[in-house]
Amino acid sequence: MATTIQIEDNITVGTLAERLKLPVTRLIGELMKNGILATINERLDFDTAQIIVGELGLDVELVQKTEELTVVPKERQKRTGDHLSPRPPVVAVMGHVDHGKTTLLDAIRGAHVAQGEAGGITQHISAYQVSRGDRLITFLDTPGHEAFAAIREHSALLTDIVIIVVAADDGVKPQTIEAIRYARKAGVRIIVAINKMDKEGANPNLVKQQLAEQDLLVEDWGGDIVALPVSAKAHQGIDELLDMILLVSDVEELQADATVSAQGLIIEAHIEQGRGPVAHALIEEGTLKAGDFVVSGATYAKIRNLESTSGQVLKTAGPSTPVVISGFKTLPEFGEAFRVVANEKLARSQAEKTSISQHAGTARSDMSGSELLRIMSRSDTLQELPIIVKADVQGSLTSVADSLKSADTDEVAVRIVESGVGAINDNDIYMAHSSGAIVYGFGTTIPSNIKRIASRDKVSVRLYNVIYELIDDVRTELGHLLAPEVIEKVLGVLEVKAVFKTTKSEVICGGEVLEGKLTVPALARIDRGKEMIAEAKVTQLKRASNDAKEIATGELCGISLSTDSRVELQEGDKISVFTRETRARSL
Ligand code: GDP
Repeated sequence: MATTIQIEDNITVGTLAERLKLPVTRLIGELMKNGILATINERLDFDTAQIIVGELGLDVELVQKTEELTVVPKERQKRTGDHLSPRPPVVAVMGHVDHGKTTLLDAIRGAHVAQGEAGGITQHISAYQVSRGDRLITFLDTPGHEAFAAIREHSALLTDIVIIVVAADDGVKPQTIEAIRYARKAGVRIIVAINKMDKEGANPNLVKQQLAEQDLLVEDWGGDIVALPVSAKAHQGIDELLDMILLVSDVEELQADATVSAQGLIIEAHIEQGRGPVAHALIEEGTLKAGDFVVSGATYAKIRNLESTSGQVLKTAGPSTPVVISGFKTLPEFGEAFRVVANEKLARSQAEKTSISQHAGTARSDMSGSELLRIMSRSDTLQELPIIVKADVQGSLTSVADSLKSADTDEVAVRIVESGVGAINDNDIYMAHSSGAIVYGFGTTIPSNIKRIASRDKVSVRLYNVIYELIDDVRTELGHLLAPEVIEKVLGVLEVKAVFKTTKSEVICGGEVLEGKLTVPALARIDRGKEMIAEAKVTQLKRASNDAKEIATGELCGISLSTDSRVELQEGDKISVFTRETRARSL
């Protein structure tokens, strides 16, 4: 009889290998055979895990654990500020396979592609804009059914509105439920498109009832979810759908600041013959211009050509615009943020810094050691604390596991590698040793021979009889995983009046202290207008020709800065002098 193993959706490759008691390299190998390049930290959706387990020929039946929903409110929405202006909504289309997502996107694109964009739709389209009246809507082309949950989730996170497509003749299906879950998790607005209304078996009422079973109440069921009947194939209901998107975005008051330097997310990246790395990016804030320098993770680009996703050359592009950027030194990663910096030096140094810290991270975590896999892996910011829990009886094991969930935060989480009832045994120690886990025993014991193995293998075993003491200990361990808090304190700001000397590693200038006081030693940030152009160290302050420890507001002084590379200061630049400390955090 097949063994049943419970796994969560979006399980990491490492955890799945542990649950299956397989070497992780075997699982990675099988994934590769199936065309999936994954590292130990990559997440797999349930369907993929099931397919891979089938391919491995294991006598195992996977069952999906249902996870709790957490609502992440979207911070981009409903903002306040001086330079905010309305921006187009970003819309993703999701739903079960064959319910008509592609046909719907084609119908929308075919009928309404923004002026001047018709024609040249490229193979790698990832997002596009359509116009309705004098307004624009940005659509993300969501990947098809072969794509994985992590990617689908990512596109939900980029989005303001998710259109969930449900075929009127087929009703709510597993991927419909998954799409609803992702949309809720991302805190975005949902519009339901009840598609295939032209078909004979179309039953929109049944769809609405099934949606209600998922707690999605449409307007005629007394809820606030808009559900529109459409036929993607017959091009019916498309205009109404676009109008509804605009109405919903008006209610959401979607705004962005187009005056700041641009930032956003990479939504697609590939190598194109003759052009090298080409990235599709969605601008979230600011205005991107041809000639700008952008940094994304460990790579950067000088934008030679700024183009729309259908190949039209653009001079500038504002918030919510999908654009094509070529000129990246290496392939940027899907889902990685990008932002504009002042010059190439800064772009290069920031990309290098990220590259160095990524290498440091992979040296610890990437067991495959393959450079290719490293490049393919997404950065995973959640730090996990692997633990093994043993308890005296099933009831207390369940309460310990439930209480542990409460210790999780967005940054750190407990990962229960193994759990069971009874005394701690050699298998627990073996598992802990191979996964780096701490073994927690609740109301249970450890025989002395096992204790010896634990101490030989340097496995930490901790026994508790009081649940909150155990949880406190876990919290302390989680706290150690938190990245330290960086505290910066601005001490004073100087305006540059004259530049005396500039070399590769030093710049000396004179200016007036506008606020606060300057001290030495300290750090300095140089800003030109709204843009930061460099960071440096204050090495000397001079009042007239004498060295000074401090210079107060209103005084004129000379300041020497040590820099990583040549910094061309200009009159009017602002130098903020500050201190930076790191402090350990606790939960
Ligand atoms: P996706 O997997 O969700 O992207 O679904 P597709 O767009 O590929 O559509 C799956 C099938 O349903 C295709 O054969 C489409 O022609 C068909 N289809 C999509 N929309 C409609 C519709 O409104 N009416 C009918 N009759 N068929 C549709």
